[in-house]
Amino acid sequence: MISFYPGPSQVYPFVKDDMIEAFNKGILGINHRSSAFIEISKECIGLLKKKLLIPEDYSIFFTSSATECWEIIAQSVIKEDALFLFNGAFGQKWFETTLKIKPKALKIEFDLETPIEAIAFSPIPELIAIVQNETSNATQISNDIIQTIRHKNQSSLIAVDATSSLGGIKLDFNQGDIWFASVQKCLGLPAGLGVMICSPKVKSRVQYLGENKHYNSLQIMYERMESYQTTHTPNILGIYLLMKCLRRIEGIELIEQKTLEKSSLWYEFLESEGHKLLIKNKLVRSDTVIAVKCNHPEDIKEKAKKNGIILGNGYGHWADKTFRIANFPAHTMKDISLLMNLLKRQ
Ligand SMILES: *Cc1c(COP(=O)(O)O)cnc(C)c1O
Repeated sequence: MISFYPGPSQVYPFVKDDMIEAFNKGILGINHRSSAFIEISKECIGLLKKKLLIPEDYSIFFTSSATECWEIIAQSVIKEDALFLFNGAFGQKWFETTLKIKPKALKIEFDLETPIEAIAFSPIPELIAIVQNETSNATQISNDIIQTIRHKNQSSLIAVDATSSLGGIKLDFNQGDIWFASVQKCLGLPAGLGVMICSPKVKSRVQYLGENKHYNSLQIMYERMESYQTTHTPNILGIYLLMKCLRRIEGIELIEQKTLEKSSLWYEFLESEGHKLLIKNKLVRSDTVIAVKCNHPEDIKEKAKKNGIILGNGYGHWADKTFRIANFPAHTMKDISLLMNLLKRQ
């Protein structure tokens, strides 16, 4: 089966060998305080910075998922208030998760087809939360807009959910303070690991707030990460597979070039075959997740399944009116041609 589900999705074929190697080398049973683990963790963090062009002075943490990152931010980075800007289901969920922990969080919802208005928000929020790639409706926010939001709101921290884009397109990490993702989307790996990337401003903020009541309090995570360790026994296999994957893949600039070539190809193909896209405005369309309008998505998904392909369901509000196609780096041109053949109209 080839999975075009927008996460968990197709894993890179080399994951098979890397898993066998992890087993054979005894990685599965190593202790998370051992030097063997520390070496893997350290190399993994170094490679994340190198391959994704993350600034040297940013800190990187391992978490279990993007959802855990939502909670860590609410617990350890926000004192009272935050402003959530979103247009879809993941932004909504992140906001609701935060609201349970910090009831003064506010939201601004924006339209699917219109780029978000990058203004100076008032009253000044402690933190502005943005979903860079809204997986539910296949929209994205450009690096330029994030930069403008940062520029106009210099006393707020900027937190960016990049779960379904990190590793697929080039993100301008300098324009945000917290970036996070999980590995089962653009990184082409099995689920169960998240990464959280923090600017030096976050460290000062966390030290100032001093929140230390949870196993995943960011202050304690910083302390442990000084020696490349975690607060608890982490997903060691996941971290090993991520390290191996990062050794193999190209730098993000080349990866992004391929992602953009494939997304253009997809959009041209779908429009020329008479499919209706959920998002018409090219300025806000995602490059890593594509949503196609459809009256009977069940029929198309069934046909794909018979041909060995898993398509993505519509999500949330769009569940029975769309299907989604992931355009992640692990999706090869060969996989894409197979799916395109099935989506031809004649
Ligand atoms: C998938 C996804 C999440 C949730 O990721 P988990 O690893 O399941 O926690 C959060 N935000 C976005 C934008 C996503 O696409």
